[in-house]
Amino acid sequence: MTSIQNLYFLILLIHIYGAPLEFQDDTLPDLSYLGERIYRNPDPEIGKILENWNVSSEINPEEMGEYAEGDILFPARGRNGLVAENARWPNGEIPYEISGYFDIDALNQIKRAMNIYHKYTCLKFRKRKSSDGDYISITSSNTGCWSSVGRIGGKQEVNLQTPSCTTKVGTPMHELMHAAGFLHEQNRAERDDFVTIAWQNIKRGHEGNFDKADAEKVNGYGVAYDYRSVMHYSNKAFSVNGKPTIIPKDPSKGEKMGQREGFSKGDLTKINEMYKCPNKTSEVIGVEENLVIASENKENSHSSSLITAAQSILGWLFQKK
Ligand SMILES: [Zn+2]
Repeated sequence: MTSIQNLYFLILLIHIYGAPLEFQDDTLPDLSYLGERIYRNPDPEIGKILENWNVSSEINPEEMGEYAEGDILFPARGRNGLVAENARWPNGEIPYEISGYFDIDALNQIKRAMNIYHKYTCLKFRKRKSSDGDYISITSSNTGCWSSVGRIGGKQEVNLQTPSCTTKVGTPMHELMHAAGFLHEQNRAERDDFVTIAWQNIKRGHEGNFDKADAEKVNGYGVAYDYRSVMHYSNKAFSVNGKPTIIPKDPSKGEKMGQREGFSKGDLTKINEMYKCPNKTSEVIGVEENLVIASENKENSHSSSLITAAQSILGWLFQKK
């Protein structure tokens, strides 16, 4: 073989043998660990439970549901016996319609959640056009806070019961992050290195909510286990006795679990890696590690663009020298 042929052969080998180590472009979490329990009908009994939630509750409303892991729900109808196939949204565009009734406060909270996505990620929530076959429909039925995971094809609902699921901006952000293709943080394959699950404190029959995802089938996008993730349960999720069900190995992380104020830096990195937004990812690198971001106001972006402008002028001056 000529050296060119050798090179091609080598590239081919890397392609064949290297490929399994890499996640494919459209890789989304494999949901098979959740089994059949993801298929359910929305349940008004869960809505009644949620009516007891208020902002001083120790757990989040999405942790009060009886769906898979509390808030993961795939339509029961139309399935073909396979565990749900889910996909990313092409170009990070998520067409949506608001089909439930939301009062102005709830509507503002949903808009605010979307604006935070727009500011810090390249995901784009936009009003559905008639030509959009796949889209999310934001509903408000009294059946809890829930979503399916990833794009499942056709119309898919994201339900936000008011006011429980729209009180904190982090709850719509959480459900929309499921719709974008993400699972819960504390169900990561390596979570036992970071938290202890106190099985004795979990409500009987809810142990499955703490099953771990399959390491080979979920991509962490290089982000370490993240106690601050908006996708992390609070420490008393599904507790039967008011005692913690999730105990951090590092005691200093305790109060940081289950926040619903905004994205953690890790959340942003993961979203921007899944949706391939290198520019947004590099912006996030400068963000402080423990910062939770809930601000969508323009002043921050204005000052950061001023800093960027100043940096490029400095760079230009140094280059001239
Ligand atoms: Zn969830």
